[in-house]
Amino acid sequence: MPARLLEGHPVAEEILRDVREQIRTSATQTPLTVAVLLGDDAAARSYARAIRKTMAPLGIEVRTVPLDDSMHEERFREIVTQLNRQADITGILALQPLPPGLPRSLPALSIAPEKDVDGITPVNAGRLLLGLPAIAPSTPAGAMELLRYYGIPVSGRRAVIVGRSPVVGRPLVSLLLAADATVTVCHRKTSDLADVTRTAELLFVAAGSPALIKPDMVRPGTVVIDFGVNAVGEHLVGDVDPAVAEVASAITPVPGGTGPVTNAILARNLLTLAKLQRS
Ligand code: ADP
Repeated sequence: MPARLLEGHPVAEEILRDVREQIRTSATQTPLTVAVLLGDDAAARSYARAIRKTMAPLGIEVRTVPLDDSMHEERFREIVTQLNRQADITGILALQPLPPGLPRSLPALSIAPEKDVDGITPVNAGRLLLGLPAIAPSTPAGAMELLRYYGIPVSGRRAVIVGRSPVVGRPLVSLLLAADATVTVCHRKTSDLADVTRTAELLFVAAGSPALIKPDMVRPGTVVIDFGVNAVGEHLVGDVDPAVAEVASAITPVPGGTGPVTNAILARNLLTLAKLQRS
């Protein structure tokens, strides 16, 4: 029997309804603004458009800050320091890929934790790891919301994550542990990937590798969450082969699965930052 499709849009709509209501009823009514740092990259530009589409109906301003390809580390730090200090900026998001030559870790090391809308700074990552209240990265936080929305239990279950990136795999470990799952993480050096993925009851894939996960790597009945967004020709494909839907009990579509929920969580994180800044 083909898997149940875990569509992201209804989950995103539920989250956004709540955010809209909270913004509407908030006492201060200060407008929320997110600064989006954006290099010269087609995928990042399309992500920025999607963010704007989510934020605009909520009355959230998206201020794009272009980063040119020849930019040096020092200039990037200056821009972020300025945004950190600006009272009218609620949150800061730096879209990957950054201009060539800038280290990938630069945003995490320059954005102020108070303005860290995607939970990438060492302070937020550390808080999340310690199980303290934290701004969690939007993509893995969105996956937890998908599971909650569709009534998929996590507690006590065996979760396998493929990928250990700072924005998906690693924070997902903390979120799943907080929800009482038993967690295993695979990565490029994992010796027999299929051997491990076949043990999963919940399988999360964020490897950036099109159709990496094949049906024979998934135990029948597994719930599969695909974070992959890979452009193959004109199409977007996930990290999971669509044929896995014949084996899994539930699976996120690509596109339309984890993506829409990610943007809704960004809006929610921005609201949380605004509340913390006011308190
Ligand atoms: P993303 O932004 O989707 O999280 P990254 O490129 O930052 O992707 O990280 C990719 C992650 O996926 C890395 O942790 C890497 O070890 C893992 N990965 C990539 N290819 C494979 C593979 N063939 N098998 C297992 N893990 C992989």
